[in-house]
Amino acid sequence: MKRLLAAVSSAAILSAAMLVPAPAVADSSQVTQIALLQGPPVIPGHPLSPILDRGTGLPIGGSSALTAGSSQRAALAAEEGWRRAYEGLPTQVQQAVPPHLRPPEPAAPAEVTVVPVQEPSPAPEPPRCYNCVAITYDDGPVPGTTERLLDTLKRKGVHATFFVVGQNVHAHPEILRRIRDEGHTIGNHSYSHPDLARQADGTIAAQLDDTNAALSRHGGITPRWVRPPYGSYDSRVAAAAGARGMALAIWDVDTADWQHRNTATTCQRAVAGAREGSVILMHDIHEPTVAAAECIIDGLRAKGLRPVGLDEMIKRPDTGHVYRRAD
Ligand SMILES: [Zn+2]
Repeated sequence: MKRLLAAVSSAAILSAAMLVPAPAVADSSQVTQIALLQGPPVIPGHPLSPILDRGTGLPIGGSSALTAGSSQRAALAAEEGWRRAYEGLPTQVQQAVPPHLRPPEPAAPAEVTVVPVQEPSPAPEPPRCYNCVAITYDDGPVPGTTERLLDTLKRKGVHATFFVVGQNVHAHPEILRRIRDEGHTIGNHSYSHPDLARQADGTIAAQLDDTNAALSRHGGITPRWVRPPYGSYDSRVAAAAGARGMALAIWDVDTADWQHRNTATTCQRAVAGAREGSVILMHDIHEPTVAAAECIIDGLRAKGLRPVGLDEMIKRPDTGHVYRRAD
């Protein structure tokens, strides 16, 4: 019992010292008595020791302070009481309290930063399509050649681009849907293949609109690209495409496949002329062109190039812009 009392005394003195440094509380016997009157013994660090009020040096809340549920509230109440008591002390006495026993600073109110409302910034540029090349085929879809070309592309795991003629779409909608289902890019190549730069404004509009209507009706497709027949366009054609959410796709590699109709020549021109970002022009209505597809794909890959659909190579075309290549 003597040892216990000694422990109680020293703990009580310690508690009292937190309030007013010695010699204000010098009579340890008084404190001991108070501690004994108030409740269970105070043994610092013992799990059953009550939490002392730093302000009074007495246990907080009697036995209830021992329950786990209230211990946190009690600790907060003790901290608040101690802070109030500390703040009421003369400055010299405050300074005499060892720093580690002073009450913690009350939490500063969270700083509120007002962020001005900003205009939505334009979406970042899509990443460059590394080593990409677009192989493109005009004038279909037609039975036979277009279908054999699709077979080769599927076998080689390549997406190409098909610039379709509106009247052929009406004639062979099932081939259009196969092109769509196999993941190729589909573009508008006018309705009946006139030289658009030589047409009246109304005809240009009708050639684009009728083809878009056919694509929508037969395939649910809204194209983003126009390839004007013969690559012939003027500012009116570009503006008409732009007004319909489309860009013009010309080319930088012309295989002239429709002139020579030679498989080896078509392959050689396509592969030799291609570099990253190139657009290669061919026609899927000529058998020698279809026969060159495998040679072209292998040749491009041997150069480290990757044949892709135009939609993959140029992900967000500027409407009304004329593209000869990806850049
Ligand atoms: Zn054409």
